[in-house]
Amino acid sequence: METNFSKEQLKDIDNKSSEKIFRKCVHCGFCNATCPTYQLLGDELDGPRGRIYLIKDMLENNKPANEKIVKHIDRCLSCYSCMTTCPSGVNYMHLIDHGRSHIEKTYKRPFRDRLIRSFLSITLSKSIYFRIVGNLSKFIKPLSFFLPNKLKEMINLMPVTFPSKQLPKKEIYPAKNKKKPVARVALLTGCVQKVISPQINEATIRLLNRHNIEVVVPKGVDCCGSLNHHLGKSNLANKTFRKNISIWYEEYLKNGLDAIISNTSGCGTTLKDYGFIFRSDTDLKKKAKKISELTKDITEYLDDKVKLNFIPKNINEKKYRIAYHSACSMQHGQKVHKEPVDLIKKTGNEVLEIEDGHLCCGSAGTYNLLQSSIAKRLLKNKIENIEKTNPQFISTGNIGCITQIAQGTNIPILHTVEIIDWYTGGPKPKALKNI
Ligand code: SF4
Ligand code: SF4
Repeated sequence: METNFSKEQLKDIDNKSSEKIFRKCVHCGFCNATCPTYQLLGDELDGPRGRIYLIKDMLENNKPANEKIVKHIDRCLSCYSCMTTCPSGVNYMHLIDHGRSHIEKTYKRPFRDRLIRSFLSITLSKSIYFRIVGNLSKFIKPLSFFLPNKLKEMINLMPVTFPSKQLPKKEIYPAKNKKKPVARVALLTGCVQKVISPQINEATIRLLNRHNIEVVVPKGVDCCGSLNHHLGKSNLANKTFRKNISIWYEEYLKNGLDAIISNTSGCGTTLKDYGFIFRSDTDLKKKAKKISELTKDITEYLDDKVKLNFIPKNINEKKYRIAYHSACSMQHGQKVHKEPVDLIKKTGNEVLEIEDGHLCCGSAGTYNLLQSSIAKRLLKNKIENIEKTNPQFISTGNIGCITQIAQGTNIPILHTVEIIDWYTGGPKPKALKNI
């Protein structure tokens, strides 16, 4: 794609990087074929190629965003299915991030939208605020008919009870053999996930400790920053990124870290991009690059680095049919797909392929809250395809997908790490108590 940035414009590091990406695009449109929003809405501007043109036009011509551009950019799920399909290696993720940040700087959203986006930015990125709002929503729910539709939907989606934790909060969870751990890893425990599904972090810690790996949860790391990053709130996101990078890097230097484990693929994708985000920051670029290199999805780490001790099963023991839902951030964002599937297969159960498995379930961070009608259509399609496989339960690696899919079906859904923990000596997940 031909570009027309001036020399002055190219002094800006973000313009410079985006220009390189634009130049790779050959307009072929292959990406549209696998874009969920293009498939549903059939508008060129709701596909990756059209969005690339919109972003290029804004940046090249120093144009502020307008209502039309914002509508089509906001409809993008950031599922990165287009990146898997693109034969030219166009990094759409970096373009859409740049586009969103440009929108935030140049466009004033209507008051109601600003209010909702600020509400999400504050409540979802701090686990303590999320818990408070969840508790308050118990009282607001009966009166929610007074609220604007979007806010009403959000309040109704808030959980009112939170499962209790089984593991005490600690900074260090020692390996089984305290004196001779085989590795030491940091775990990103996340913001929303640790409140609504603490069992995921608990299964991760138990499993790693049982395999003689020390797990550290350094104080001060809460949210990974993706939420604000995807809302285009670069300043807030960068503040979180900086804090996390400093904390983990210090831990790496002082006590050593073999990996930083993410068990939420949306967060893992962002952590793996810290190096790019701070590529021109003299203070942080080396540290950010190291943090990105150390980051591994839990299934990637288990598959590559851990000799798992699966408990031999009795021949008569029940075998399950498990539908594996590959989260977009996992399969397209991190290119991790085979690893979780192989791990589940090692449990002796059957892994079922879901038709159109490359398409998003509609969760996509805050997408199901901000673009609920598209998200509902995507969810409906996803559930139909899952149910066709007739599974006994579903497995995936992202809390957003777990929450979204659970809204559309009664089939139990587990994080993949809960299954691996169970088959290597951990407890049977509570969600499966009736099957
Ligand atoms: S990230 Fe997903 S929704 Fe956005 S353009 Fe690419 S394929 Fe379409
Ligand atoms: S598939 Fe890649 S090269 Fe082709 S239009 Fe889409 S982004 Fe451009």
